[in-house]
Amino acid sequence: MAEKLAALGIDSVQDLLFHLPLRYQDRTRITPIGALQPGVDAVIEGEIKAADISFGKRRSLVCRIQDGTGTVTLRFYHFNATQQQNLAAGTRLRCYGEPRRGASGLEFYHPEYQAIAEQAPAMAESLTAIYPSTEGLSQQSWRKLTDQALTMLKPQTLVDWLPPELELAGEALTLEQAIHYLHRPPTDANTQQLVEGAHRYQQRLAFEELLAHHLSVQQLRLQTRCQPAPPMDDDGELATRFRQQLGFQLTNAQQRVSEEIADDLKQPKPMLRLVQGDVGSGKTVVAALAALKAVACGYQVAIMAPTEVLAEQHFNNFCQWFEPLGLNLAWLSGKIKGKRRQQQLDAIQSHEAMVIIGTHALFQDDVSYAKLGLVIIDEQHRFGVHQRLALKNKGRREIGHPHQLVMTATPIPRTLAMTAYADLDCSQIDELPPGRTPVNTVAIDSTKRSRVVERIQAACSEGQQAYWVCTLIEESEALSAEAAEVTCENLRNSLPDLKIGLVHGRLKAAEKTEIMQAFKQHQLDLLVATTVIEVGVDVPNASLMIIENAERLGLSQLHQLRGRVGRGSAVSHCVLMYQNPLGKQSKRRLQIMRDSNDGFVIAEKDLEMRGPGELLGTRQTGLMLLKIADLERDHHLLEKVKSAATLLLQQYPSHVEPLVKRWLLHGDQYAHV
Ligand code: ADP
Ligand code: MG
Repeated sequence: MAEKLAALGIDSVQDLLFHLPLRYQDRTRITPIGALQPGVDAVIEGEIKAADISFGKRRSLVCRIQDGTGTVTLRFYHFNATQQQNLAAGTRLRCYGEPRRGASGLEFYHPEYQAIAEQAPAMAESLTAIYPSTEGLSQQSWRKLTDQALTMLKPQTLVDWLPPELELAGEALTLEQAIHYLHRPPTDANTQQLVEGAHRYQQRLAFEELLAHHLSVQQLRLQTRCQPAPPMDDDGELATRFRQQLGFQLTNAQQRVSEEIADDLKQPKPMLRLVQGDVGSGKTVVAALAALKAVACGYQVAIMAPTEVLAEQHFNNFCQWFEPLGLNLAWLSGKIKGKRRQQQLDAIQSHEAMVIIGTHALFQDDVSYAKLGLVIIDEQHRFGVHQRLALKNKGRREIGHPHQLVMTATPIPRTLAMTAYADLDCSQIDELPPGRTPVNTVAIDSTKRSRVVERIQAACSEGQQAYWVCTLIEESEALSAEAAEVTCENLRNSLPDLKIGLVHGRLKAAEKTEIMQAFKQHQLDLLVATTVIEVGVDVPNASLMIIENAERLGLSQLHQLRGRVGRGSAVSHCVLMYQNPLGKQSKRRLQIMRDSNDGFVIAEKDLEMRGPGELLGTRQTGLMLLKIADLERDHHLLEKVKSAATLLLQQYPSHVEPLVKRWLLHGDQYAHV
């Protein structure tokens, strides 16, 4: 039992008390069989009239049970001889469960049940808690365990770490009361509220949990900041030469953010900065300027991107920018093997390579840096906190902790940024380079495909370029590649004058690069692609984008894709092709895309429609391991969480550690990753 509990992170009585129910059942009264509703939990009592084995599609034990108001079926697919005996005709039975519509009218599938001897067992006096569980631990075991834990719960056994100044910690809301209530809610409890997690006791605990998470991230940040980092300050000569060859002026926003970064880099403590900027806002140049500062001061820079395609594009970009300045670059990805890989590794270790660009491969064990001073991570939302921290560990003790710059195009709503990225300072590039015109977005029924094809013909004969995006219909990369091949064939047939290329995830890296380069150099008019082009690809001359089955994609993904056009001076168009009939959600998404080009507006709507876990892709970061709070449901608490954290840190610093320990699976999980 202890082992099973430990697997769920339960090592102590306190852990057990904080293992809160998922939902509740009302077992305080008996429902007449005639009054059962499908989908509504109920307790029934009656006599088994018949018990037979039925040989339908699957063998099952079927009991008909009657109480004078009606008859209902219990169905068991798994049963042994003893159970069969216990469920013989004539037995009086009490049973708990959720009736559903089945082959013979309402049916209970594998209900909990209890035979009734002479004396009927007492009814429950409170709502029955249903606990999150694991294999081999029944709900009965959970109830026994929590019963034991609750008897140990006397006033003052749980220290309330929330400061009394907070209104939440009012007298009516002691921690013991809240915990007791949520394990064993009284019969008059507002079940609806409990189910929705809106009950004030749940909110009290959710608040405390969010506070604990917030504090733990803050602690991590403090720990990091206490470490020494190499201060970087130079005369700016390299940056000036870079800017002269750039061919455009920085926007005010780029200028401002670059200065914020330069200020951080001067410090003898590690920079931890997140740069948010909508797609096309020009984050790469800002990263390049940061890199130049580090290089000018004699340090190496590692630049990591989430995909092969994007990393390679960065590599090409930085080569064009940096080689004329006399800098050496290295390139690492999982696909670079053997001798070539060894060459790169040697160059990194000997400091011959100053700027190292690649994918996750950058922080594998055999990569050792001579003098890593700055780590730049592009498209942060694809990486977890773990990966971010792993790269930082490539620094050397004698040099200090590398500075860290994280760039993301997925605008993170402010409230979430505060919690998910509390360990980072934020800068925003809130301005697009001049001369951009907003992308004009339309939604078109896929039956009008031929009109879309004509439009591509017209645009391309005027010298423009277009993307045709085939969305992932099948889970497998192989099948979606196949679908893209078919689409590409069809388009080649209907557009014989155009030069059409195809990229998908199954191509070799070299093939992908070759095709992307051909498109960039306008040797291709139309690029048919799976969503591999989603992140970061930059071809300013492309001004038309068709997204097939757009109704299947989420808002952020659509916005990312659309960001591939509208980068040049021509008016750009995005055609969202959809298949009828459209669901309500899909319809709303397409409408939002037509109404707005603003990444922040879209991210807020996305959060509203999908919830933060998916938006941030942070399931694996530990942040989403919440027991009772739900970031989406409870994000109205976050402002208050922030001020409570400040209060606690300033006035009650000794409360911080025990509070974090209470809520986090392993109190130091952030520190260890
Ligand atoms: P993102 O922020 O999406 O990563 P990029 O860095 O790829 O954007 O920049 C998008 C395009 O805008 C690139 O072609 C880049 O050269 C160009 N660009 C960046 N900054 C400016 C600027 N200040 N003026 C003109 N063009 C710019
Ligand atoms: Mg980018």
